[in-house]
This record gives sequence, structure tokens and C-alpha cells, in this order.
Amino acid sequence: MAKYKDKDHSYSEEKEGVSYTCPMHPKIKCKRSEMCPECGMGLVKAEDEAVHETEGGKGHDKHEGHSTEMFIKRFRVVAVLAIPLIVYSELPEIFFDWEAPRFFGWEYLMLLLGTIVFFYGGRVFISGAYREIREKLPGMMTLISIAIVSAYTWSVYATFTPDETLFWELSTLIAVMLLGHWIEMRAVTGARGALKELASILPKEATVIRGGKEMAVSLNDIKEGEVSVVKPGEKMPVDGLVKDGSSEVDESIVTGESKPVTKKKGDEVIAGTINGDGGLKIKVTKIGDDTFLANVMRLVSEAESSKSRLQVLSDKAALILTIVAVGAGSVTFFTWLLVGDDIAFAVARLVAVLVITCPHALGLAVPLVASVSTNMAAAQGFIIKQRLALESARKVDWVLFDKTGTLTKGEFGVDSVLAISGLSEQDVISVAASVNSGSEHPIAKAIVDHAKKKGVDVLNVDGFERIPGKGAKGYVNGKNAVVGSEVLVNEHKASVPEHLLESVKKFESKGKTVVYVLRDEQFLGVISLSDIIREESKEAVKVLYDQGIRVMMVTGDSEDAAGWVAGELGIDEYFARVLPEQKVEKVKELQGRGLKVAVVGDGVNDAPALTQADVGVAIGAGTNVAVESAGIILAKNDPLDIPRIIRLSRLTYRKMIQNLFWATGYNVVALPLAAGALVAFGIPAIDPAIGAIFMSASTVIVAFNAVLLKRFSL
Ligand code: ADP
Ligand code: MG
Repeated sequence: MAKYKDKDHSYSEEKEGVSYTCPMHPKIKCKRSEMCPECGMGLVKAEDEAVHETEGGKGHDKHEGHSTEMFIKRFRVVAVLAIPLIVYSELPEIFFDWEAPRFFGWEYLMLLLGTIVFFYGGRVFISGAYREIREKLPGMMTLISIAIVSAYTWSVYATFTPDETLFWELSTLIAVMLLGHWIEMRAVTGARGALKELASILPKEATVIRGGKEMAVSLNDIKEGEVSVVKPGEKMPVDGLVKDGSSEVDESIVTGESKPVTKKKGDEVIAGTINGDGGLKIKVTKIGDDTFLANVMRLVSEAESSKSRLQVLSDKAALILTIVAVGAGSVTFFTWLLVGDDIAFAVARLVAVLVITCPHALGLAVPLVASVSTNMAAAQGFIIKQRLALESARKVDWVLFDKTGTLTKGEFGVDSVLAISGLSEQDVISVAASVNSGSEHPIAKAIVDHAKKKGVDVLNVDGFERIPGKGAKGYVNGKNAVVGSEVLVNEHKASVPEHLLESVKKFESKGKTVVYVLRDEQFLGVISLSDIIREESKEAVKVLYDQGIRVMMVTGDSEDAAGWVAGELGIDEYFARVLPEQKVEKVKELQGRGLKVAVVGDGVNDAPALTQADVGVAIGAGTNVAVESAGIILAKNDPLDIPRIIRLSRLTYRKMIQNLFWATGYNVVALPLAAGALVAFGIPAIDPAIGAIFMSASTVIVAFNAVLLKRFSL
């Protein structure tokens, strides 16, 4: 696939050899400084050893859910250690008027337990902060670290003085933070998975022939050019060419088409597709990252890391909140010191403020919703490549549909062939098929198939050139041959005999596509082809009209053929004989009037318009160029997915806004409480651990609210 271009990546740097990791999830590795797919935090630069670092010293660990488990493991230890720290705090006395029996050196035991809690439980946060600061991107890890380091340092000092320590606050805070993270991550994992699902499509091993013997090797060990044996019912391990055998292959994961495709010697097979009843020997042509599936996975992961406008906004808000937190924390701390309260109280307030203002929920608010919606989309059958496309979809005023291959299946059949006097139908077909033997256009394929079926010679073509939106040309037998629309006839100053014009008119009024065949500027004949309108197209148009969206069909086909299809589908606005540049012009014109435009297309001729559109949607079965240019891909080739995209976009936006509220709104109430600003009015200050509960609760609400999006059916 060509280098994929993304309207949405200008702010993300990509450097060779640098990798990024999540401070919370060391197993996450990424080439870009995007956000963690696990928790949505910003990724930070990682040195190699930092990336490979795993908990428990078990070496490189790929186990799923490993880091999630790490949080709960640490939580359990910290929670147990917190019990004696609470029992020996001032709490029992306050609440039960009871004091645990003191014994010699109990303070030092508390110090020991507190130290274990700090280093064992707090380590995750501190190493996270270290990476954030090195990246000059202070965030939640930094805040939590300042909080726990302050609490711990103070407590160590207080152990040796008559002052109160903050060990119980420290341990409950760390416990809550660890538990909060664990709950969150579980909520988040439920929201992800498209990539994992794709990865699980590939078999783990493949059978190859080496030294004349069949042996099972891991996918990583296969080399290009080797021969792999695929037994009936197995999945293709690699992309390749059939060397021996024949079978019906289920390619639905790639094409969405459930009908199995016959594969015989010389045919291409794609990794992940399922072999039918025949055994196949495959010559390996592509392995690993070059396979089709790997490319799709790359697209999906780029989507997962491509940020929406709201994401950029909430990232900024998170940075501001961090600054506010540190500012508010310092003001709180020094105010309490100046007021002359004891330092323990001042430190506790500082810690509470830092914890409460942590922008953790904010960091998750948007990405979580985004990943739930990406997955809903994938489950429905459309792949979101650019988040911005999905975000813009809710505001779409116009949907511009291409006709051939989009509203229709693009599966043409040749109906009739008419030749000028002196030539046979076979001659016309032969010229048309020869020129088109190099083309991927559905019309071209139909003509070539027809020629083969009729036993007509398909000759070599030299200097083949496609003329997007018009046709194709090339030299056949040294003569300049052209196949395509009426436009080309005019361009070549050829003319169609009167008596044929009538038949052409008749074909087109029934929705047939008519192509003209020329040789050395001379008109030879016409070929009339019929296409099948997709079953879902009519319903899709109706639903869009009901959603209040205007629909337009733009096609390179003739006026009559276009009019017939538009009539069948109930589309009241259409443009025929539209060239690729004119498709772009249409989009620009509407955009110039302040309207948002979605373009749905499949062909090379649609690519420029797909790029120009606010929302470019490509039919999955369409050409590579169209798929590369679009922001959303319809894997099932179903036009009904267009209204679904719009609905999903609207739902997603609403959820994101709700989440931004839940992530920041509570600060307005909680911050003054944490700072102890209302103590003078008899309202007690919030303890750090309660603050942590607030913060985690906000995060859990945000995660839960995001998952609720799944309840909506599209
Ligand atoms: P649409 O915009 O409806 O998808 P295209 O732009 O792909 O249609 O094609 C427009 C017209 O150009 C077709 O109706 C056909 O007349 C002609 N055409 C394009 N490519 C070819 C080809 N390879 N062979 C013959 N005709 C072609
Ligand atoms: Mg098309």
C-alpha cells in the first residue's frame, strides 16, 4: 500500500528508532507519541530497557492483562499493610475513643510499613512521573508523585518528632489509586479489542516444506519464496500464490462477501482467509508486516491513535488542570502554614488538592468514548481510519454517492454488442478486451470475462493507460485503441452512426452502461453492460432523507443511465458524465456554501473527492487508491452504513461532551473542600484518600459512561 496520508497527524512526530510507551502500561510500544490504547494517557519516549521492563522480573512478557494484574496484586499488599497503619493512627481515637496498645518501637514499625507501601505501591506512579518529566509533559503521574512524596517525606520527619505522621493517608491514597487504576483498566479493556480480534485471525503456526518434508514452523520463521501447505479448513498463514491444488476459499474477512471464491494454480490468497475443502500449496509472497491483514491492522491502529479535535482540546485542558493543581496545591500549603496551622495538616491539604485535581478522568474522557465507538463501528462493519472523519459526520449536510461500484455492485455483465457494418461483434469485443486486459475497472473485468467466455482472442496491449472517469486506451496490434464513455468519442472526433444511436438511447434509458470502442480514431461499435443495484442502496437513501440529509449522485456514466438508477433509488438530484476533477469541484462548491459534505465512492476517479470531503467513505471492495484516500471504510460494502456512521457520530459526540463534564465538573466542588477553604464555616476538609476516591469515582463514571455507548444500536 502506498504511504498512507492522514489529515490528522500534523502534531504527532514520527522519528525513526524512537519508541513511545505508556507510563502506566510498559508493554505498550508505539512509534508515535500518541495515547495509550490501554488507558488513553499520553505516551512518553522510552529507552529500550524502559520499554522491556516488566514487573516481577520475569523478563520479556507478552501475557495479556499482565499489567492489569500488577495493579490488583500491589493493591492487595498495600491494603493489608494499611490496616495496622490505620489502627495506629489517630482515627480509632477520634471515632471510637480507643487507642491501640502502643509497644516499644511501634513508630518505627509504622515507618517500616509506610516505607514498604511507598516504595512497593508508589513505585508505579513515581516511575511514571519520571518519564513524564523527562518528556516535559507533566500530568497525572507527576501530581500523584508530588502528593505521595510530600506525604512520605513529611511522615519520615514526623516519626522522629512529636508531629503527626501521614502514613494512613499515604497508604489509603496509594491503595485507592491502585484499585482505581485496576477498575478503570478493566472498564477500558472492555472498550477495546478491534486490533486484538484482527490479530487473532492469523494462525500461530504454518506448515512449510523444507528439505522435502512438511514441518510446522512459527509464523515468524517463514521466509518469502517458501512453500506452505494449507490443509482443508485451515487459515492461510501468509499472502501468496497457489502453486498446487484448488479449493474454495472463504475471503469474507477481506471482502465481506460470504460466497467462497475458487482458487487454483496461480491465484492469489490472502493471510487470514479460510481454506475450504481442498488442500493447497502456497508459494509465500508476503510475510509479516507486508501482508494485507497487517496493512489493515496498521490502518486500525492508526485510527486508534489518530486524535479527534475534542481529544486535542481535552489534552490541553489536562495540561492546564495540572498547572492549576500544582498552583492550587502550593497556595493551599503555604496559606495553611501562614495561618499557623500545624505542618501535618498543611501537607495533608496539599496532598488532597493534588489528588483531587488530577486530570486522570479528563485524559480518559474522550479517548475511551472514541475507542468504544471505533469498536462499535468495526463490529458493524465499517473501519474508522481517521477519527476526524467520524467526528465531522454528525454535521454532514450532503452525501454525494458515486454510482458504479458504490450504489451499484459494479458487477457488470455484457448484455449486447453492436458493431458498425463490416465488423463482427467479436472484433469489437476483441479490441475492447485487449485494451482492458490491464485495467482493474469493473467494466473492464466484465468485458475481458465476456471475451474469454465467448472464446474471443484477448491480445497484448502496449502503453496501456487508464483515463479516470472516462475509460482506457492503449496500442493493440500497433493500432491506437480506445474504450470508454461518449466523452472519448467526442474527444477523438469520431462519430456514431445514426442507426446505432437509437439503440444506445434505448439501452441507457433502462439504466445500462454503454461503452464505445474506437480504433485509430474510428468508431467500431458499442458494448452495453448492466450492473446490479445494491439491495441496501434504496433504504440507505431513504434513511438519509429521513435524517434530514440531502443526497446527490455523481457519476461518470451517461445521463440516461444515471437518471434510471437515480429514479430506482428515489434520488432527486444527480449529475452524470462527471469527471474526477468535477467531482472535487462539486464538493468544493458545497463546502464553499458552508456545508459539510460526505463523499462515498469506490474508484480511482473518486479518490480526489474523497480526500476533499469532510467525510470520505470508501467501499471496502473498491480500489486501493479510494481506500487510502478515505477516512472511513465500509468493509461490508453496505451503503446503509452511511446513516449508521452519522448516527454513531452524533452519539459519540454527545458521550464525549458528557464525559468532559464528569471529568472536570466535580473539581468545582471538590477542590475548595480539599483545600480546606470551608473549614472556617464548619465544613471539614476532605482527606487525601477521600480525594482519591472522588478522583477514581470520576474516572470510573467516565469509563462506565463510555461503555454505555454500546447500548445504542446503530
Ligand atoms: P462512476 O463514477 O459511476 O463510478 P466511473 O467514473 O468509474 O463511473 O466510469 C465512468 C464511465 O467511464 C463509465 O460509465 C464508462 O463509460 C467509462 N469507463 C471508465 N473506465 C472504463 C474502462 N476501463 N473501460 C470502459 N469504459 C470505462
Ligand atoms: Mg465508481
